[in-house]
Amino acid sequence: MGEHTEVLVVGAGICGTFLSMELERAGITHVVIDEQRPFTASRSAAGLINPVTGRRIVTTWMIDELLPFAVDAYARLAELLGASFFSPVRVIDFFPTAQMRLAFLKRLEEDAAYLQLPADEHAWDGCFHTELGYGIITSCYLVDMPGLLAAARVRMSACGILREERFEREELVVEGESIRYRDITARRIIFCDGVESFNNPYFSRLPFAPNKGEALIVEIDGLAEAAGALKTVFKKGMSIVPWRDGLYWVGSSYEWSFEHADPTEGFRLRAEAALREWVRLPFRLLEHVASVRPATLERRPFVGFHPLHPAVGILNGMGTKGCSLAPFFARQLARHIVDGSAILPEAEVRRFTKILSR
Ligand SMILES: Cc1cc2nc3c(=O)[nH]c(=O)nc-3n(C[C@H](O)[C@H](O)[C@H](O)COP(=O)(O)OP(=O)(O)OC[C@H]3O[C@@H](n4cnc5c(N)ncnc54)[C@H](O)[C@@H]3O)c2cc1C
Repeated sequence: MGEHTEVLVVGAGICGTFLSMELERAGITHVVIDEQRPFTASRSAAGLINPVTGRRIVTTWMIDELLPFAVDAYARLAELLGASFFSPVRVIDFFPTAQMRLAFLKRLEEDAAYLQLPADEHAWDGCFHTELGYGIITSCYLVDMPGLLAAARVRMSACGILREERFEREELVVEGESIRYRDITARRIIFCDGVESFNNPYFSRLPFAPNKGEALIVEIDGLAEAAGALKTVFKKGMSIVPWRDGLYWVGSSYEWSFEHADPTEGFRLRAEAALREWVRLPFRLLEHVASVRPATLERRPFVGFHPLHPAVGILNGMGTKGCSLAPFFARQLARHIVDGSAILPEAEVRRFTKILSR
């Protein structure tokens, strides 16, 4: 006998995971199909939520709304999973150049919301070469992505909603107001399949802009002890981010043009050289990860239902900011399903109705 459900979700990265939680909260039955893959964007991510960005240290899109929302959403998820994978973190932003130091001081004068100067400019001299000093970025958070995704997976399995298999697009039948996939019939299907959506016939016309990122997983002797109880991220062009088991994630690259999605020797050599120049402590390389970010040309997500196929939806395009954007837009999408409430116009996929109707 077949299974009938309200929503079929394809993908259990950070988007599919939060969507599943929001659907559950809203009392909407659903099935999640996800094939366990080693190097997805969500599994390779540092998991950092940082309210400021770029050379001019400007605040990121919607951050004043996204931050409190994320704190609340990750707390709810922790309740469901019985463990928290979210913690506050401070970011020590070493100035790589004199201009960056000036830019930081200028921003601090204009808007001190997320910036601070240290009490002791030399506090990290034992661990790092710090010629130009550093600033501190406050109100940052860190998500243990591998831990969160694994725990969510266990729970989805226990609830009987996860199918660990590959979704084969050719077997999807869309029939106006409903869909069929193998033995499943559903009112809607929502693609949370990350970079796979680039080739999805329903959504491939959207202006995706794949961006590759690589990172090293390293052991750094004595750094965790030096940082003490508060988790600490160190930045100087690259970031050193606390990872699992006392290890550190070091990255990353941002490449708009690349030949493949695998780790490259070029990145490893560059990152190791940069670390040697910057860090005074001995370190060892344990792993090298690479993945492609589902980024978009205008740096805004794709959320909602296809203008011509109302049963087919998408939650994607989180780019470099999946950890803060996915919870927020998963909630908007679930609400939209419940009562038709509007999705933020900058993220609503129907802003591309013309392109999607071709
Ligand atoms: C190196 C790197 C560092 C990053 N650092 C950060 C960071 O610090 N902070 C931050 O906020 N963001 C960061 N990001 C971005 C973040 O990773 C993404 O925005 C986010 O993970 C995208 O999540 P997603 O759920 O859309 O996609 P994905 O994580 O790709 O999830 C898609 C899921 O769908 C499954 N799937 C796809 N197709 C199929 C199919 N046919 N059948 C079955 N299953 C399928 C995949 O297996 C996967 O589990 C980083 C990305 C990279 C690459």
